[in-house]
Amino acid sequence: ENLVYDVVVIGAGGAGFAAAVSAHDAGAKVVMLEKMPTVGGNSLISGAEYAAADNWVQRKLGITNDSVELHFQDTMKGGDNLGDPAVVRTMVEGALPTARWLVDTIGVEFQEDNVFHFGGHSVKRSLIPKGATGAEFITKFMAAVEKRSIPIYTDTKATELVKDASGRVVGVKATLEGKDYTFEANRGVIIATGGFAANVEMRTEANPFYGAGFKTTNSPAAMGDGIRMGVAAGGVAVNMDQIQTYPMCDPVSGAIELIDDARFEGAILINQEGKRFVEELERRDVMSKAILEQTGKYCYALFNEAVEKRSHAITHHQDEVEVFTKTGILKTGKTLDEVAAAFDIPVENLKATVARVNEAAKTGKDPDFNYRGKFSDLSTGPYWIYRGVPSVHHTMGGLKIDTKAHVLDKNGKPVPGLWAAGEVTGSTHGSNRLGSNAYTDIMVFGRIAGEEAAKAEPVK
Ligand code: ADP
Repeated sequence: ENLVYDVVVIGAGGAGFAAAVSAHDAGAKVVMLEKMPTVGGNSLISGAEYAAADNWVQRKLGITNDSVELHFQDTMKGGDNLGDPAVVRTMVEGALPTARWLVDTIGVEFQEDNVFHFGGHSVKRSLIPKGATGAEFITKFMAAVEKRSIPIYTDTKATELVKDASGRVVGVKATLEGKDYTFEANRGVIIATGGFAANVEMRTEANPFYGAGFKTTNSPAAMGDGIRMGVAAGGVAVNMDQIQTYPMCDPVSGAIELIDDARFEGAILINQEGKRFVEELERRDVMSKAILEQTGKYCYALFNEAVEKRSHAITHHQDEVEVFTKTGILKTGKTLDEVAAAFDIPVENLKATVARVNEAAKTGKDPDFNYRGKFSDLSTGPYWIYRGVPSVHHTMGGLKIDTKAHVLDKNGKPVPGLWAAGEVTGSTHGSNRLGSNAYTDIMVFGRIAGEEAAKAEPVK
């Protein structure tokens, strides 16, 4: 079989798809390699909100106080200035044009009447795809790739980059059904293999704190393969110790708890002692850290009918309720005595906590933790209470890239023939990736990587 292409894209998640389509449209013969039986990676299971300053939906809603500069400041500050300013600048500047490209060229549909406000962003600026998941992107990308006849090899795991005598990356070794193949890349290889949140060993090596004690919200494919391959080919990895947890996840599976929507509408977080310990609408990293400081490194969320009426957390997520009831993570009770007994929480503490929240619901002020949402009165049941733990959600570290998505070596020079985009890279989010900046990152740099690799001088 003749496996000769201009551009080989490793990984068929959001970054890989953006790279493949843009390389094709720039004139290259492209192939995609995907180690799983199906495409999409974490990009598919994500909420897939997309941050873009000064976008068309904001304008419709009368939000006029946003700017690319503000998005830049938010991103740098949100990551404690560990991101590369030039790379962050490229991301925020590319955000809106790339959103337009997604709509016009790929056919992605965004909700035209709402944008979300994620933690760490100064304004509501995050576009929401139709259906509010990554399926909208991945189905549209699949159609775009089919239309262009770009081949995708699934069940095909890239294992190693191939270099020629001059040190240029010229191909990828991969295994399919136990056999080894080499895909030749005349112009370039793009690594788009995602992060390493599912790789306990690699997490432990990068930051022992986030080792075996944590589960992950990620696809099991997020094993950091691309970081290892890129480093073996001379690239450097940066910010590897920066690992993000999502605060309220299923202690059994590690997945994000969808019923935790209740927290946005007045559910309170309490520890095993029945006391509140953090503001329920804090940044992900701050909340996670606070939970880990509590007895058992977990906490509970408690709410009643009044909160359920506002959030529909239970009615919207019946499948999850069924599973959590079976595993014992979620319990219900008519009274506070019942819910306290269900999880062995000292009932007098719980009653005192609820009394203070009721007071805050009345006055609109929470002197204890400055809750910035609106509390409901929690004096009457029925109640729901569920346990949650932080789970590894995003790995900020990865291959160092420049503004052209070139993988850089230890001298800051591009590794010839090699580009990278998406969670596999480490130059954007610093210490803490803001919600909805991941999709922006993977799309903007996927697109750049595709264009750049396509216009490289061919090997032959
Ligand atoms: P991003 O958000 O950066 O696009 P995703 O997690 O969405 O990352 O996608 C990464 C994709 O790369 C996943 O579909 C994953 O299965 C795939 N992948 C990871 N490692 C390899 C590998 N060694 N060979 C081929 N595909 C890989």
